Amino acid sequence: MESIAREVKGSFRWFPVQKTFSIVSAKDTLKFAVGIPYMTRNGRSMEMAQAPQLDNGHIWIAEEDAKKISSKVTAETKPAAPVVVKPKAPKQEIAGTREVRTIVIDPGHGGKDPGASGKRSQEKDIVLAVAKLLRKNLADEGFNVKLTRSKDVFIELRQRAMLANQWDGDLFISLHCNAIDASEERKRIIQGYQFYVLRAPESEEDKAIARRENAVATLYGEKNAKDELSPLEWFKLEARLEQYKQTSYLFTEKLLDSFDGGKIKKMNTGVGGAGFMVLVGAMMPAVLIELGFISNEEDEAYMMTAKGQKDLADRIAEAVSKYKDAVHTYRETLGR
Ligand SMILES: [Zn+2]
Repeated sequence: MESIAREVKGSFRWFPVQKTFSIVSAKDTLKFAVGIPYMTRNGRSMEMAQAPQLDNGHIWIAEEDAKKISSKVTAETKPAAPVVVKPKAPKQEIAGTREVRTIVIDPGHGGKDPGASGKRSQEKDIVLAVAKLLRKNLADEGFNVKLTRSKDVFIELRQRAMLANQWDGDLFISLHCNAIDASEERKRIIQGYQFYVLRAPESEEDKAIARRENAVATLYGEKNAKDELSPLEWFKLEARLEQYKQTSYLFTEKLLDSFDGGKIKKMNTGVGGAGFMVLVGAMMPAVLIELGFISNEEDEAYMMTAKGQKDLADRIAEAVSKYKDAVHTYRETLGR
């Protein structure tokens, strides 16, 4: 692969986490992903004969694709006159390198979509109550706080991230309760909080959680709705994921610290990744919080009480403050 990059007089870049790579020449930006038979050329996707493969630290692509790429790019770049590329001024600083001021809180579900149901409560009510308490906490600390909904109304998944973008948010927090549809015995066992970032899922469990949260879109008739991201969609998301990955993880670290020792236990490692539609459009660091399992009586009882809701809001607010400080310190090391 690197040899093709040289042939087309471009530079080669490898993104190990997403397993994607790009070749940038004077005229073209080509992007590829291991295992996905699509590439993009200047943002337009094209089918490949075969998906690129990773083997022993080398990337392999089919001969047919390699020929197509090098002939196309060299043929078109050869007669090209030198081009002066003026870097475009970014609309805003890259997320995570500017001060954290505006926090967008997204209480999941609402209106005709109740979310998951427990024995005595519904997800949409719990997350709204926690969101309101969190809004007060953060406002008291001087943050500019926005809620995607402040009452029991239905808002489409994609609309939520769009609102966050309009408000020019610095951090997007989507609040949810987890649930399993299983035997009473399993429901007694499965409990705990977990934090999710937008990332290709690594376990069937994470995949299932995203499908459940995404089902809103298919159930309530959003346009072009589906409950899973396609490989091509993941691929197109790669650049943005790369941009916000570090800061999204930084926030989950702060959440892990502040949730430690609480009434609700941590589930597994506490951090997972999957294709949550609600996070897809957000142009900012974004984390989805599963506060606990509404299908578990113990978790549900805690999340239903005013005391439990206040405790959860306090812990999230603490994490936001620590995140803000960490970003501020990072800016100072950059001399901004
Ligand atoms: Zn939910």
